[in-house]
This record gives sequence, structure tokens and C-alpha cells, in this order.
Amino acid sequence: MAVMAWFKKERKPRISQRTKLEIPKDAWERCENCGHVDIRERFEKALNVCSECGHHRRFSAEEYLELLTDPGTWREFYGNLRSQDPLGFESYSDRLVAAEKKAGATEAVYTGFGRLEGIPYHLGVMNFAFMGGSMGSVVGEKVARLARRSADKRLPLLLVCTSGGARMQEGVLSLMQMAKTSAAIGELKQNAVPFISVLTNPTTGGVSASFAMQGDAVLAEPGAVIGFAGQRVIKQTIGQDLPEGFQTAEFLLEHGQIDEVVPRGSLRETAARLFRHMQGAAASAPPPVAQATT
Ligand SMILES: [Zn+2]
Repeated sequence: MAVMAWFKKERKPRISQRTKLEIPKDAWERCENCGHVDIRERFEKALNVCSECGHHRRFSAEEYLELLTDPGTWREFYGNLRSQDPLGFESYSDRLVAAEKKAGATEAVYTGFGRLEGIPYHLGVMNFAFMGGSMGSVVGEKVARLARRSADKRLPLLLVCTSGGARMQEGVLSLMQMAKTSAAIGELKQNAVPFISVLTNPTTGGVSASFAMQGDAVLAEPGAVIGFAGQRVIKQTIGQDLPEGFQTAEFLLEHGQIDEVVPRGSLRETAARLFRHMQGAAASAPPPVAQATT
């Protein structure tokens, strides 16, 4: 019996003396472009730009609001506007309710007032999390109102664009927003009020075919996909192969369609410098007071 017990030695379950250091799974993030893995906190500190390859990952509308306004200066306008369902489009009403819940926002654009390095200005930020940043009547209305208000108050305007295009559930009413927003932007030009457009990934369809391309300065984030129709549609239509990197910010810069590709980390400083320049102020810090020497 004793011998058997020796052979059949009971195994006690091993209990680690050290309690395992638990790292929650969602503490890590992986760059979609190069596969680089890092702690989420480090990605956040770098404004969600990969430290290895410079890939600009998705940045939320709320993060842009924070990035582009001095602390405590943001004031939202027109936040009470909500889309109707004018065509009775199948399940559109339900989708709007779901989008609001998912995005935590009432529509696909934020519009309001803020200060940037002290400069008072109007800011609009499109929200891809709300139905792919699609432009329906409310997006168009908010952008148009903000632009008209800018012209009225002579405050510069900056729009951060991202959009999958027109909101098909509102049919022709969505397409009309292209003309309406363009007319409002036209008022800015008549009043010599500066307008900067920032194109982020992706900016396509009706938004790229209207206000997104009408900035006095059109900036884009590195690698952003910018275009009207998708590559496949164009290829089928013209029956030709498209060049490498077609519809990226860099390609458009090379071909003169945009003014500059600006990394996210420089966006704030670049926009402020351009506003100062366009408003006739010193582009950098105010110059020292000149002393008369006579
Ligand atoms: Zn990367």
C-alpha cells in the first residue's frame, strides 16, 4: 500500500506564490498599418499617431475639439438640431436613434465657438462615429449656419472634415446641402473672413465636392484618403488603371489640389499661424516694440 502510494503520488495543484500581474487586454493597442503594439496611454499621448510608422489612426471628433480649442473655451451651437425622416426611408428613424446612442452625439458634426492660441474663431468638427460622417440636412444646415455666423461676426472658420459622403436616406435633400454650404462659404469670401479646411481620413463624396475643398487653405492629415467616388467606381467608369497612392493626401498635394499635409501634432500651431497671417497679424509671436532711434 505504501509502495503504491509512492508511485501514485498525489499531485497537488500548483499555486503560484506571486499573484499574477493582471494587465487588462484593452490596455494595449496595435497599429493597423505596421502592427506595432504599445500601451494605449502612449498612443493617446501621441494623438493616436503610431510612433513607429507615423500612421494617423482614427481620432474622435471630441478629441479634435479638445486639440483645437484652448481649455474651457469651447461653446457648442445648434446642438439641438436633429434629422427628420422626410422621405420615410426604410428604418432611417431607427438608425438615427441607434447612431445617437452609439456616437453619443446628436448629429454627424459639432459646430461652435472656441479659441485657438487665444484667437477667437468658429470650429466645426465632423463625426465619423455618427453614420460615417454622412451629410444630411442637419449637417449641411449646421455648417451653413456656422459659416454665415462667421461672416456676420467676422470670426475665422475652421472645419475638420471626415465623411463617407451624402446621406442617402435623405435623397436629394442631402445633395442640396452641397449647394447650400457652398453658398454660405461664399459669404465668407465676400466678407474676407478666413476659412481653413482640414481633411482627415476619409473625406469623400458630397463633402469633398463642397465645403471641404473650398478653404482658403486646404490642409490634410498624412495618409488621409480624399476623393469623390471610390477607386473601384472610377476604374470601372474610365476603364483605366489608377496611379499608385491615388486619392491620398500626399498624392493630392503633389498634384496641387491641396495646400499642405500637416501631421496631427502640428495642426494646432499651423492653424493658429495661418489665422494670424490671414488676419494680418504677425504669423508667430508678436514682435518686440520698435524703438524710435532718432
Ligand atoms: Zn505603425
